[in-house]
Amino acid sequence: MAYQTTNPYTNEVVKTYENATPEYVEESLAKGQALYKKWRNDPVASRVPVLRKLAKIFRDETDSLAEVLTTDMGKLFTEAQGEVILCAEIAEYYADHAEEFLAPRAIDSIAGDAQLENHPLGVLMAVEPWNFPYYQMMRIFAPNYAVGNPIVFKHAAITPTSAVVFEDAVRRAGAPDGALTNLFVSYDQVSDIIADKRIQGVALTGSERGGVAVNEVAGKYLKKTTMELGGTDAFIVAEDANMADVNAIAPRARLYNAGQVCTSSKRFIVTANHYDEFLESLKAAFASVKLGDPMDPETTVAPMNSKKAKEKLQKQVDAALDGGATAYFVHDPVDSDGQFFLPTILTDITKDNPAYGKEMFGPVAQVYKVANDEEAIALANDSDYGLGGIVFAGSAESGAAIASRIETGMVFVNTFFSSLPELEFGGVKKSGFGRELGQSGIFSFVNQELVVKRDHPNDDENGGLVLPHKF
Ligand code: NAP
Repeated sequence: MAYQTTNPYTNEVVKTYENATPEYVEESLAKGQALYKKWRNDPVASRVPVLRKLAKIFRDETDSLAEVLTTDMGKLFTEAQGEVILCAEIAEYYADHAEEFLAPRAIDSIAGDAQLENHPLGVLMAVEPWNFPYYQMMRIFAPNYAVGNPIVFKHAAITPTSAVVFEDAVRRAGAPDGALTNLFVSYDQVSDIIADKRIQGVALTGSERGGVAVNEVAGKYLKKTTMELGGTDAFIVAEDANMADVNAIAPRARLYNAGQVCTSSKRFIVTANHYDEFLESLKAAFASVKLGDPMDPETTVAPMNSKKAKEKLQKQVDAALDGGATAYFVHDPVDSDGQFFLPTILTDITKDNPAYGKEMFGPVAQVYKVANDEEAIALANDSDYGLGGIVFAGSAESGAAIASRIETGMVFVNTFFSSLPELEFGGVKKSGFGRELGQSGIFSFVNQELVVKRDHPNDDENGGLVLPHKF
């Protein structure tokens, strides 16, 4: 497997990296394990300063860090800047809150003075995707650094420079050797690492296919996992939705990051009274985007991450059209050899169409017409996935009532979907399990060790021992 940065706008091969040797992998695991043993006895507060320094690096070096992302996988430089700042915010959030989150929790019990202590689990293996190369890393790194879990990680083969740069930023922030180690390894090596007895948890963000493969190995060796996988997120336009708001948000909900977001709105489910207006407005917005150099602030839609991804999406669209879907809109061709996918709107996708229920990871909107809100909810739930979602309705309350009936991990009502440090992130069904970010995210790989203490065993009033009555 070649770890290689190929700029998807220019197609230039910028840099190729050597795979990690077995010796380097072993050394990394040994360092991680030694650090875990030390960290096990250190307070959370001792690790907080590195998170603050890391946040400062991300703030001070925003532009140079952002340019690496744009070169690695093509995203707009402006969006890359936003990703870098979000990383700083995540590091700051856990620096601010980790001690409070990880403080022991007292339990009222007849057994004695009981409490849950939060200890690290050990070395973690993280497997991460290319679409937000730093943010995905920060989601796992910042909370686990605070907890005291060292991490070895495999980044996507197409974003190796981001991996190297992230690892370097962590080292420059003062993290000790072994705290975070980038490994350019093959799938087989990933399996071997997961099997290693020093690895105590595995976090994967990626596709269902990747999740199944990694989880299978983790299951075999009984390693705890979190799986952050794909989705077919619904954007519901309810009967009483305010169309000015809908029209302002819908295009961005699909085209941000060239449509390559796990929580992009992939299915627009529109009630009949709004359907024609919605399509007209989305078409006008898709037609007016500017595809071009991702470094140019005038560009609004970037190339896709790679030729392979573009070809995969084209195949999916072709299959949808062969299956009877309508290409309601396809953007005019662009004069560039960059890996651009022309923003497309598909309609008339029936249940037997190959596109139905499939994740399209790029700037393709599927638009469905439904009679009313009930049908919208039923269609939203007719999916093997459940990651995010957006509902537009006449009020926050009526939107929330719809949101609560959607089988998914996260829903935003009358606003754009955004990931923020304090908001728990994760899905249900084939979108995965476990949560990252927020308070829950820090507990994914924590040993909540129960300690019950007394000075002597329980006495009854006659001085005899009270025997435990439950096991
Ligand atoms: P992917 O193919 O699963 O790749 C993700 C990571 O898993 C990469 O590092 C990849 O390595 C690795 N990988 C894949 N198969 C593996 C195997 N058998 N053994 C070991 N490692 C393996 O995912 P993708 O298609 O690049 O990423 C897009 C997907 O991620 C979409 O489905 C998207 O919705 C999802 N995603 C989910 C979230 C979330 O938080 N829920 C966030 C972002 C993206 P290579 O690059 O070397 O193949």
